[in-house]
Amino acid sequence: MAYVQFFAEKEKDKFQLGNKGVSLVEMTHLGLPVPPGFVITIDAYKRWRETKLLPSETITESVAALEKEIGRKLGKGLEVSVRSSGPVSMPGMMDTVLNVSDMGQLFSALGRVFESWDNMRAVEYRRLNKIPSTLGTAAVVQAMVYGNRDERSGTGVLFSRNPSTGEAGIFGEYLSQAQGDDLVSGTRTPKPVETLKAMMPDVYARLEEIAKRLERHFCDMQDIEFTVESGKLYILQTRTAKRSGQAAVKSAVDMVEEELITPEEAISRVTPDDISGLLHKRLKAPVTLRPLVKGLNAAPGAASGRVVFDPVSAVAEARKGTSVILVRPETSPDDIQGIAAAEGVLTQRGGLTSHAAIVARGMGKPCVCGAEDILIDTLARQFSVNGTLVQEGEEITIDGTMGNVYLGRLAVEEVSLTQELMELMSWADGFKRLGVRANADTPQMIAQAKTFGAEGIGLCRTERMFNAPERLSVIREFILAENGSKRTDAIEHLGQLQKEDFGFLFRELQGLPIIIRLLDLPLHEFLPPEDEVADPQVRKRIAELKETNPMLGHRGVRLAVTSPQIYQMQIEAIEKALAEVPADVSVMIPQVVTAQEALMVKRLLKGSRMKVGVMMETVRACMRAAQLAEEVDFFSFGTNDLTQAVFSFSREDAEKKFLTTYLTLGILQDNPFEVLDVKGVGRLMETAVFWARRAKKEIEIGVCGEQAGEPRSVRYLHTIGVDYVSTSPFRIPIAKLVAAQAALAGRRDSQPDKEKEEGK
Ligand code: ADP
Ligand code: MG
Ligand code: MG
Repeated sequence: MAYVQFFAEKEKDKFQLGNKGVSLVEMTHLGLPVPPGFVITIDAYKRWRETKLLPSETITESVAALEKEIGRKLGKGLEVSVRSSGPVSMPGMMDTVLNVSDMGQLFSALGRVFESWDNMRAVEYRRLNKIPSTLGTAAVVQAMVYGNRDERSGTGVLFSRNPSTGEAGIFGEYLSQAQGDDLVSGTRTPKPVETLKAMMPDVYARLEEIAKRLERHFCDMQDIEFTVESGKLYILQTRTAKRSGQAAVKSAVDMVEEELITPEEAISRVTPDDISGLLHKRLKAPVTLRPLVKGLNAAPGAASGRVVFDPVSAVAEARKGTSVILVRPETSPDDIQGIAAAEGVLTQRGGLTSHAAIVARGMGKPCVCGAEDILIDTLARQFSVNGTLVQEGEEITIDGTMGNVYLGRLAVEEVSLTQELMELMSWADGFKRLGVRANADTPQMIAQAKTFGAEGIGLCRTERMFNAPERLSVIREFILAENGSKRTDAIEHLGQLQKEDFGFLFRELQGLPIIIRLLDLPLHEFLPPEDEVADPQVRKRIAELKETNPMLGHRGVRLAVTSPQIYQMQIEAIEKALAEVPADVSVMIPQVVTAQEALMVKRLLKGSRMKVGVMMETVRACMRAAQLAEEVDFFSFGTNDLTQAVFSFSREDAEKKFLTTYLTLGILQDNPFEVLDVKGVGRLMETAVFWARRAKKEIEIGVCGEQAGEPRSVRYLHTIGVDYVSTSPFRIPIAKLVAAQAALAGRRDSQPDKEKEEGK
C-alpha cells in the first residue's frame, strides 16, 4: 500500500485509511460536497512508529497536488486540517489539528496526530473496549472550510433518524458562526437543525437529501458532521449512528419496509441489550436531580413507590393498590412474594449476582443493590442516608438501569411492546429453530407470557400454591397429623384448593401447552421454626424433619417415594381441573436420579393421557439419560440445580461468600448461575442429549432455568440441538431474537461448506 491516498482514488481499505478516511473516500465517490484532501495511511504510521520518519517527499507532492486542485497555495488562501482516523471508532480519543497553514506546522501536526494514538485516554479506551493497540491510525489531511466565516456559516451534527426514538426524518443540531470544536465541546448551546429550514432552506433540503443518500449507501442509520461556509454545505464525516434500544428496533424494522435491508439483516443488527433497554419502564426526562444514594444497577427499569421494609407489608400494601418499593438490608428466598408485590427493590448489601438482583431481573422489576450508604432500622421502620431520614410510607424512585435512588416520585414512562418489536419478533419466529416458552406459576404470569409471545409454559412450579398463608395451615395439618384419617382429610382439602388453582391457570392458557412440575419442596419448609412452637408433639415432629443438608435432602420425587399421597393428590387435582377446562398438560417429575422413580410416578398416572417428563437436574439423571428416555416423553434440564450439582457448591453460599472473588480474579469468567457453564454443565448436557436421542429419537428436550434466557446461553443451547428454552416472560423477546440470530448464523456458516462440497 502506498503511504498516501487521495479521496478521489478508489481503495477503501479501513485498515489502511481508517474509518474516517474510508467514509471521506466513499462520500467523494458519491459526489457529495466533501472538501478535498488525502489520507496518510496506517502503513505510513507504522513506519513512523518504528523510525520516526514521515514520507515527507510524498506528502510535499500531495500538498502541491491539493494546491493545484483548489487553485490556492497553503498559507495563501488554503489551510488544512489534520485528522486522526483509526480502523475502529474511538470517539474524541485522538487529536485533530485545525487551520494548519504551512509545511512546518503540517509535519508537526502529523506527528501530534500519530502520537495521540498512544495518549492516555486512547490507551485506556482501547483497554476497556479490547481494541488491539497494534492497529494504529491513519491521518487525514483535508482542505479547511470555515463555519465561522460569516452569519451564513455554521457547523452541525446530523442523524439520519432520531437516535433515541428511531423516528424517521433527520434529527440534529446546528451552531451558527462556529467551528466543529465549539459544538462538541459543549461550550455553546446549539439550536435544532430545523432552524436551518428558515435560514437557508436549500441547505436544509440538501442535508435531508444527503442523509437519505448516505443511509441508502451504507444501509444503516448515519451520524453526519457538516459545516456551512457562506451558504455552501460541506460534509466532513459520516459513520454508523449509536442509538437507543427503541431506535435500534424501530429503525431496523422501518428499513426493512423501506427495502433498505432484509428481515435477516434486521434480526442480526438488533442486540439483546437493545431489547432489554426497550422493555423496561424508564425515567421520563433525563434526570438532573442529585440521587439520594447510588448502588449497583442490578435490574433495569425505573419505579416509584412507598417504602416498605418487609415482604408482608409489601403484599398488604400492594393488595390495597399502593405501589411500594421493598427496602431490605439484603434479601432471602422468603422475600419472593414481597418482591413480586413491590414495584422495585432496594438493598443495602449484595451484588449483581445477589438473590434480590436475580429474582428482580427474572420478574422484570427494577432493582438497586448494594447501596452501602443506607442504614436500615427495621424496628423503627426507617432508613437514613448521610443524615437524610426516610420513613416507611415515604415515596422514593429507583432507577435500576443506572443504579440511582431518588427521593419522591419521579415521572416514569411505561414502555410496552411496540408495534415494531412485534414485527421483529414475527420475523424471528420465522427464522429460529429453537422453541421459546415461559416459566409461569400464576394466571397473571401466563397472561404476561402470552403478551411477550411465549409458545407454551415450559415450567409451572406448584410450590407457590402451597406457600400462600391460608394453605400453609392445611399442609401443616397434613404433615403433623398423627393418624391416617386426619391425613386424608387434610390432603383432600389441599386437593380441592389445587384443583381450583389449576382451573384458573388452564383458563388463561387458551390453547398454549403447559408443563406442570410436581411439588419440589422439603416438608420442613412448611413448618414454623422449632422455637416458635410450644406443643412438644409438634416440636418433636419438627426435629424429626430437620435436615443436615436440605438442598441434597428429602425433596422432589424422593418425597413422593415415601409419601405418594401428595403427588397422587396433585395428579388428581390436575385431572379434575382438566375435566372442567380442557388444556394441553404435561407433568414433570423433579429431582429424578433413576428410571425407577419415574416408573413409580407413572404408576400414579395410570389411565391419564398426560405426557410425563423428568426434570434433568441431577448428574446421575444425565448419566442415565438413555434409560430415562425410554420411560418418559420429555426431558427438561433444570440448569440451576444442575449447575449446583456439577460445581458441588450451592448458589446462595457461592454468591454470598466467594463467587465475586472468583470473578474478580478471573478464576471463573462468568457466574455459572447466570451464564450457562458450557465447559462443564454444557458438556454433561450434550452427553445426556446424545444418549437420550439415541434411545428415543422423538424425545422432546427443553431447558428451563435462569440461564435459559441469557443470550450467550441461548446461542449455545441452539447449537446442542435442544428443542426449546423456557424462561421468564420478560426474557422471551430476547431469547427469540438470539435463537433467530443463531439459526441465521448457522445458515451462513453452512453455506460455504455446501459450495465447497459441490465444488469437489
Ligand atoms: P473526531 O475524530 O474527534 O471526530 P474530527 O477529525 O472529526 O475529530 O475533527 C473534529 C471537528 O473538527 C470536526 O467535527 C469538524 O467540525 C472540524 N473539522 C475537521 N476537519 C475540518 C475541515 N477540513 N474543515 C472544517 N472543519 C473541520
Ligand atoms: Mg468527527
Ligand atoms: Mg430444581
